[in-house]
Amino acid sequence: MSRALQAGELVLLTDRKDRRYLTTLVEGRDFHTHAGSVAHDELIGGTEGMQVRTTRNAELTVWRPTLRDYVLKMPRGAQVVYPKDSAAILMQADVFPGARVLESGVGSGALSLSLLRAGVLVRGYEIREDFAQRAIENVTSFLGSEDADRYQVEIRDCYQGIEAEGLDRVVLDLPEPWQVVPHAATSLFAGGILVAYTPSMVQAVRMREACESGPWASVSTVEVLHRDWHIKGDAVRPEHRMVGHTGFITAARRLSD
Ligand code: SAH
Repeated sequence: MSRALQAGELVLLTDRKDRRYLTTLVEGRDFHTHAGSVAHDELIGGTEGMQVRTTRNAELTVWRPTLRDYVLKMPRGAQVVYPKDSAAILMQADVFPGARVLESGVGSGALSLSLLRAGVLVRGYEIREDFAQRAIENVTSFLGSEDADRYQVEIRDCYQGIEAEGLDRVVLDLPEPWQVVPHAATSLFAGGILVAYTPSMVQAVRMREACESGPWASVSTVEVLHRDWHIKGDAVRPEHRMVGHTGFITAARRLSD
């Protein structure tokens, strides 16, 4: 079965040390690293997992990037939600294909990409025009324009209100998510889920306090610790380094009136 790489596609090149490079295939172009270059034409028509040599004889393997590869390499304006947290947010928010989800702010679009890939209809509120543009470009570049049709970004201040009703989920990554809690209560269906990602525990606590004075239940706060392991022969141990902190994920379900 052939799924040949085509001009216009994003590809990831990895080297022996697992360094990663993202590029878009263009006929006639060369890809340059400090370890020599490779002609895109050598890759176009090839298959994933194929190994090529640079002009300086370094070995590179070509892949289509995973969502994780893309999010860690894509152009960003704002800090992105890390893949480990996006994965947890998808489960905490219990998203499903066709779910109507309000996301704010959209930042660089990293979390949006995970939601869209899960089949969600994303309405995004973002106060910064430049970030909104960047997010739309990132989403379109990874998912293509057909899937990007499920992504509607508006330039709005989410603290002022949510102009939508009948939402299944509200997912927040902005500095004061507690300001959005009353708006989420009016916009969500009963049984709907609100999720807020916050780097600081003080923000998570304020979020919990806001939920106490509204129609919310099943309130929880979690953090996700992700530790890689080094496994080589008898040397089997956790990696020395890990990302020690990213953020907390607070979730709540809307009660009926
Ligand atoms: N989750 C995003 C990153 C969001 S960063 C990602 O994974 O890429 C936080 C974003 O919230 C910033 O882009 C900021 O401009 C936006 N923001 C801050 N306050 C806001 C508000 N009141 N309404 C809408 N967006 C807001």
